Amino acid sequence: MKYEFPVTLNTNPKEKPSPVGLPFGKYFTDHMFVMDYNQEEGWHNGRIVPYAPIQLDPAAIVLHYGQEMFEGLKAYKTPEGRVQLFRPHMNAKRTNNTNDRLCIPQIDEELYVDAIKALVEVDQDWIPEGEGTALYIRPFIFGDEPYLGVRQSMTYKFMIILSPVGPYFVNGLQPTKMYVEDVYVRAVKGGTGEAKCGGNYAAALKAQEIAHEKGYEQILWLDGIEQKYIEEIGAANAFFVIGDEVVTSELNGSILPGITRNSIIALCKEKGYKVSERKISIDELVDAYHAGQLKEMFASGTAAIVSPVGQLEYKGEKMVINNFEIGPVAKEMYDTIYGIQTGKIEDFMNWTVPVADEDEE
Ligand SMILES: *Cc1c(COP(=O)(O)O)cnc(C)c1O
Repeated sequence: MKYEFPVTLNTNPKEKPSPVGLPFGKYFTDHMFVMDYNQEEGWHNGRIVPYAPIQLDPAAIVLHYGQEMFEGLKAYKTPEGRVQLFRPHMNAKRTNNTNDRLCIPQIDEELYVDAIKALVEVDQDWIPEGEGTALYIRPFIFGDEPYLGVRQSMTYKFMIILSPVGPYFVNGLQPTKMYVEDVYVRAVKGGTGEAKCGGNYAAALKAQEIAHEKGYEQILWLDGIEQKYIEEIGAANAFFVIGDEVVTSELNGSILPGITRNSIIALCKEKGYKVSERKISIDELVDAYHAGQLKEMFASGTAAIVSPVGQLEYKGEKMVINNFEIGPVAKEMYDTIYGIQTGKIEDFMNWTVPVADEDEE
């Protein structure tokens, strides 16, 4: 590694949760990474310290104007005991794209990945073992300058925390029910839809709450202008199998460019599927459903990798997809990606990155 960080070990380590029935995002490891930014020194003082609550001035800009971004990726342990990450440089790159949109200073992508590696190495005993488990990594950056005025913060914190997780959905690869939202919108072109920032999620809570009350796990968002074209799902991108075509919405400025999305497109190409990124209208989807051509639908994201959709409701019509069962493309994508991530399948796409330098192993 090019960058190294001082480590203050936690002298009071926690008991690790059981890997059986492990919930998502509830337990945190013994250490965290913290780095500061100010204008004189830039990003500096990167360090690994015991996991603990942080002190924040009540006037911190993030608390009032939401200048915050986050990322999500996972670490896995292979059967041989190698600890590895999945395409972390893509998270580093996406961080800088988000930072640019939110006027947060750019961060050296090598430093970013090295900080993740260093923290995961310290807490590697927290990587759970068991089907569907992983160590979830949450890097985030926020403006912490105490100032009540609408402008970007002059100081920032870059932090990384880790959480041992089980499958994102309690029922694993059980298909979910999805509600096509036609009142609220998530993002518009020119807004922050393609940035990974907390504000996007706060803005989506209301629609999510209403969908939950109706018995739906997730929302399928339509475009913010005509509410005509498919955008994406809650915290995931949307894939469909229409006839023999695997299709996902093209990146249009308001859709988050998922790394899992990118990986599925690449894998589909590699495996010889007909795969397209294009506009998909909700009407096309409903027509395909009536014609018996809507074979599969699934969500893609780091948390669940692939999550099949068994039912879609749009304007009162309930459409059941693939008999409420996981379809062959979703299953193949899940098995291949999770297999590569956990080292159970050879990494023929060259996507995994070891946490320890190869010559140190
Ligand atoms: C994080 C996220 C995704 C999925 O991205 P991955 O890199 O695949 O985890 C999709 N949509 C939104 C809105 C997201 O925040």
